[in-house]
Amino acid sequence: MNEKQISAIKELLSVPRNIVLVAHKNPDGDAIGSTLAMQHYLTQKGHTATTVLPNDVPEFLQWLPGVETVYKYDKQNKQSKRALDNSEIIFVLDFNAFHRVGEDMQKALESYQGTYIMIDHHQQPDVISDFIYSDTSICSTCQMVYQFIDMLGDIELIDENIATCLYTGIMTDTGSFRFPSTTSTTHKIIGDLIDKGADNAKIHDKVFNTSSYSRLQLMGAALSNLKVLPEFHAAYITLSQEELNSFHYQKGDTEGLVNYGLSIKGIYLAAIFIEDEEQDIIKISLRSKGNFSVNQFSRNHFNGGGHDNAAGGRSNVTLEETVQKFVGLLPRYKEELETSYES
Ligand code: 5GP
Ligand code: MN
Repeated sequence: MNEKQISAIKELLSVPRNIVLVAHKNPDGDAIGSTLAMQHYLTQKGHTATTVLPNDVPEFLQWLPGVETVYKYDKQNKQSKRALDNSEIIFVLDFNAFHRVGEDMQKALESYQGTYIMIDHHQQPDVISDFIYSDTSICSTCQMVYQFIDMLGDIELIDENIATCLYTGIMTDTGSFRFPSTTSTTHKIIGDLIDKGADNAKIHDKVFNTSSYSRLQLMGAALSNLKVLPEFHAAYITLSQEELNSFHYQKGDTEGLVNYGLSIKGIYLAAIFIEDEEQDIIKISLRSKGNFSVNQFSRNHFNGGGHDNAAGGRSNVTLEETVQKFVGLLPRYKEELETSYES
């Protein structure tokens, strides 16, 4: 963001406004952390700020400060629509294409006449927005929100609640500060958030140590299903709806499972294919190490996208056919995968 844009936003926020914060469907720690942090920040500045998410917050994030005030567009449709209609500004956080909120909410956003401000770190922004703060090199939208608040000269307004939300989003989007997108700036910001009241050990415990017994059993099933294709430096996991049902699947239970593929020596591309009978799709998560872009791979073959090393997608054929398609694509990427990562 340049000086001119920052001045314009400062001007816009110099009087109390009605503001809505939105993030993508199936919101993750970064999506919820960034919307709630902005909500707390804008409220402190004297604005009326409301978070509207397309659907529910996963259990492991339901303790975040302010989460009880969030409207879910699917279940609290009237309140959500009213909030959008009454708003003068919408902050688009942690996504950059309107289809990421799901069909219903997408229509509402596309017909919105107010001002848009987008803060996001995904590739290829595809949103018409009055203000865009987009940087694909930054690890998380939460880090960008910290930097945004800093650019507006309000770092002193970051209190314990804001610090807790931002810490959570940065932690979850960087795989606990492991991914290459984690920089010294990230660590400096994290240090400051701890100083401002984020309880790092507690946050880690609340996010990661809340599994049910059946979730661990589900992880066991997923790991038993793991297939390794060493010649392509690839590995994948499948989970059928039947398996999900038998382990009493709850939203969020499959979070992070895809990463186990990458923990095998010599594996640079990992995938998980999860059957979703309700939506009648196979939900796909892709992860890579090095310069193999799963964002591009997913855009080309699986109707999705994301980042170079973490992307999602979907398929409309059966689980078996989806796996066949994936395995069938690998020979064409053999050379690229071979040279994608220097260990
Ligand atoms: P996950 O595998 O955790 O669902 O998603 C990994 C990353 O890819 C996240 O940053 C997420 O926002 C992005 N992503 C997931 N699914 C899609 C999709 O269908 N389209 C796009 N453009 N990005 C996605
Ligand atoms: Mn994110």
